[in-house]
Amino acid sequence: MGIDVWLPRDAPDADQALRAATSAGDAGDLDWDALRVCVADCSLCELSASRTQTVFGVGNRDADWMIIGEAPGAEEDRRGEPFVGRAGKLLDEMLRAIGQSRDSVFIANILKCRPPDNRDPKPAEAAACRPYLQRQIDLVQPKIILAVGKIAAQNLLGCDDPVGRMREKAHDFNGIPLVVTYHPAYLLRSPGQKRKSWADLCLASRLMAGGPA
Ligand code: URA
Repeated sequence: MGIDVWLPRDAPDADQALRAATSAGDAGDLDWDALRVCVADCSLCELSASRTQTVFGVGNRDADWMIIGEAPGAEEDRRGEPFVGRAGKLLDEMLRAIGQSRDSVFIANILKCRPPDNRDPKPAEAAACRPYLQRQIDLVQPKIILAVGKIAAQNLLGCDDPVGRMREKAHDFNGIPLVVTYHPAYLLRSPGQKRKSWADLCLASRLMAGGPA
């Protein structure tokens, strides 16, 4: 916000004061704890009215890999953790295939709140939520970003290309290599595409290792 806020360490309402002093637009210098509080209390878009809870993200805060999906679904909204449903199980398998796990990577979404009926995020919702995700990326400083699915890729790359046109390439996200692959929920519906997703994971692994695209 550009102003100093003095918070007595053990004041009972320190969280409340912090909430009042921050919003997504000024998430740019928050530490992890302050960011988590800020997200939990966010009411910048209409999704705050229908969520059970926000889904902050999970994993290693010093991860080399950052996985970015679309938005929480029903199960994630209930449990407060990203990718815990069937698609999450497949994501876990994909991570295992590249020698990673839920604990070694950091997993986040474009939106921190579930859109009703699992509809696509509205542009205004994604824009309101973006500073939170950006701050997470800045804090993690991943060596590679894997964007899973159309919504994540389009929002991060600022385009409206289909996944088929965005995958198989090394993109650049503010200096961080970014690879696009299919969303695990799509792969559950179209298992024939898993081969392509495997190729994307191999590309990301090569880039991680500093190799050529
Ligand atoms: N799909 C996503 O994109 N994110 C989740 O957290 C769960 C399902």
